[in-house]
Amino acid sequence: MIHFTCDGCGRSLNPEFDVRYVVRMEIYASLDPSETDLDDDCDHLQDIQDILERLDDADDTEIGEDVYQQVRYDLCSECRKRFSLNPLGRLAAPQFGFSEN
Ligand SMILES: [Zn+2]
Repeated sequence: MIHFTCDGCGRSLNPEFDVRYVVRMEIYASLDPSETDLDDDCDHLQDIQDILERLDDADDTEIGEDVYQQVRYDLCSECRKRFSLNPLGRLAAPQFGFSEN
């Protein structure tokens, strides 16, 4: 039997009792801003398509990791709640101390 652990809290998920949530993220490099100013979204998407196709061809996933990265997490319901409230987690500014100087 496949055993899953929550990537948020490390708790093991029992398939009989726990709902497992899957988070999938794509992180990819934004292309040259001067090009995206040109109102030409089609070319922009085409460029990404090209990158993705090249990545598909390559077996070595490390080749384009700084260009394109896909991440997958398994979460328990508690961590799913926390994640959806604050998807960037620790990257976000802390709740306390609003002093802006
Ligand atoms: Zn969890």
